[in-house]
Amino acid sequence: MKMKRNMVVVTWEALVGLAKGFATTFIHLFRKPITEEYPEYKRPLPERSRARIILTRDPNGEERCVACYLCSAVCPVSCISMQSAEREDGRRWALWFRINFARCIYCGLCEEACPTLAIQLTPYFETCEYKILPLVAEKEDLLVDHGGKNHDYNFYRYAGVTAYQDKGEHIKEAQPVDLRSNLP
Ligand code: SF4
Ligand code: SF4
Repeated sequence: MKMKRNMVVVTWEALVGLAKGFATTFIHLFRKPITEEYPEYKRPLPERSRARIILTRDPNGEERCVACYLCSAVCPVSCISMQSAEREDGRRWALWFRINFARCIYCGLCEEACPTLAIQLTPYFETCEYKILPLVAEKEDLLVDHGGKNHDYNFYRYAGVTAYQDKGEHIKEAQPVDLRSNLP
């Protein structure tokens, strides 16, 4: 008897599910179709979409990349390589910088790791090629003449330069605490 009741319940649930599915299909019959004619129409993608990678510049027009190798180290598919160099004033830069887009999985970890906001992923995704070699991008292919998503950020305003000021005189630095004032 109990088994028969279970069968009835299961059959009823299946019929309800079927009816719901048909109802959804029926409702959509009268809706205006949403067809995007790509590539004639290109849907604007959010700024944080992860596709083609660029190397950006700081507000002074200098290359942001300081060739610290962090992006290269964090990349799960090891598709970033570079050679570091140092200017006379001590500022580091990348002599060459290469990304193999044939291996890149657009995970965004390089962007997360970059301390200078140099490497950034953009929403531009139309990068397909028939051959592998054109997918290997050199520094001149990656370097742009703007700051990408962070126009105002300049790493060297905050770090990487010789400090002449006293404690508490740097930008946004709190004044040092007088420990003796905390004593009872
Ligand atoms: S997006 Fe991911 S896979 Fe592509 S270069 Fe950056 S870390 Fe590597
Ligand atoms: S892009 Fe960023 S993380 Fe990669 S080497 Fe340059 S500064 Fe370092």
